[in-house]
Amino acid sequence: MRSSERSITPVREAKDWSPASWQTRPAVQQPRYPDAGELERALVKLAALPPLVTSWEVMNLRRQIADAQEGRSFLLQGGDCAESFDDCSSGLISNRLKVLLQMSLVLVHGLKLPVVRVGRFAGQYAKPRSADVETRGDVTLPCYRGDIVNGVDFTEAARRPDPQRLIEGHSHSALTMNFVRALIDGGFADLHHPEYWDLDWVRYSPLQNEYQRMVESIGDSLRFMETLHGAPIGSFSRVDFYTSHEALVLHYEQAQTRQVPRQWGWFNLSTHFPWIGMRTADVDGAHIEYCRGIRNPIGVKVGPSVKPEQLKRLLAVLNPDNEPGRLTLIHRMGADKIEQYLPALVEAVKSEGARVLWTCDPMHGNTESTNVGVKTRRFENIRGELDRAFDIHAACGSRLGGVHLELTGENVTECLGGARDLTETDLARAYRSTVDPRLNYEQSIELAMLIVRKQAG
Ligand code: PEP
Ligand code: MN
Repeated sequence: MRSSERSITPVREAKDWSPASWQTRPAVQQPRYPDAGELERALVKLAALPPLVTSWEVMNLRRQIADAQEGRSFLLQGGDCAESFDDCSSGLISNRLKVLLQMSLVLVHGLKLPVVRVGRFAGQYAKPRSADVETRGDVTLPCYRGDIVNGVDFTEAARRPDPQRLIEGHSHSALTMNFVRALIDGGFADLHHPEYWDLDWVRYSPLQNEYQRMVESIGDSLRFMETLHGAPIGSFSRVDFYTSHEALVLHYEQAQTRQVPRQWGWFNLSTHFPWIGMRTADVDGAHIEYCRGIRNPIGVKVGPSVKPEQLKRLLAVLNPDNEPGRLTLIHRMGADKIEQYLPALVEAVKSEGARVLWTCDPMHGNTESTNVGVKTRRFENIRGELDRAFDIHAACGSRLGGVHLELTGENVTECLGGARDLTETDLARAYRSTVDPRLNYEQSIELAMLIVRKQAG
């Protein structure tokens, strides 16, 4: 049996593992490239390109996740369901970063805890799909698997998996990362001034007064601290920011797996924080095999079909030495299922004495279709799942240490409800996602405020 008292940070590599050992396991959700030579040439090129992150950044994030595991901080992970190459533009990137930073200020202030900020971006280009092909009329083509694999247009040329896109994915990730780093270094002026935030929506909420007090109080604290320091304070302008994406297309991940001088082991240097999606989390499958050998912190999505015994095996394979900061379990059950399925999993983790960070993705278990077939999610269900998650963890003597959200800094109309009470008719107005529906700017800030309210109450 494991014990949380066991000594930490053993220095040893995963047994019988190599960056390519996943190729001996069943690999689901992989593109079928028509030309093996073309793929090989792209991978050789990719493996020679410089990495996107560094091993010391990766290890810093691991330390911060270890803190969150101990209840000393809270993890905010968010961004698009899927980035697209076309959306690699300054306005979209800066708005997404801004909403995440503003949410994190709401959380820091309200929870009185540091917030670990992780973007679902700079590499979130691959999507798992429920079917390999898509049929329209009498035409059947490969499904769209994200811009790093093929194009979204329903034509034979666009849907052909193209290895060149692996290199384009790396370039677009690098462009995004470069801009994010520059913005963070420069500081966002209106982070310091909640009066500049776009908070028009607040007056539509029954909680208007409470929200306004919260924002004024954040503004007061920021001004107080700036006065104290005589200048804008460092920690609010030079915030740490990390990236994450679903480690799905394993040839891509393998080509970015590196050893670095004066560090033992292997790192995936395409992102700080890769996660394993629900459809690829089979403990005997290729994705778990790949992830078990890299030193990055790893996230694993946990859905309603996961049994306690399976979860225990997963803990043993991905974190055999119970290392702090290594493992984040992202549960995504659905508002109507979380009470049925989560408690047994929390108990399983406790009975193993396993160190994990529990976070809640209240998006993916709450997807539904409108009568006219538009994919959406109800704000009330998203909020409801999160509320229940906090309660269930507390009742089980565990702790919910973070959230995982699909959001954008734009005022899209993809999820129903929120303070402005978006309806099905509103969805047609600004529905931009080609995959899952995201919280818009207003709904995202509102959710952060509701998390604070829940935790304070
Ligand atoms: C996602 O995060 O976009 C996703 C597909 O999630 P899951 O693996 O939990 O279904
Ligand atoms: Mn999604």
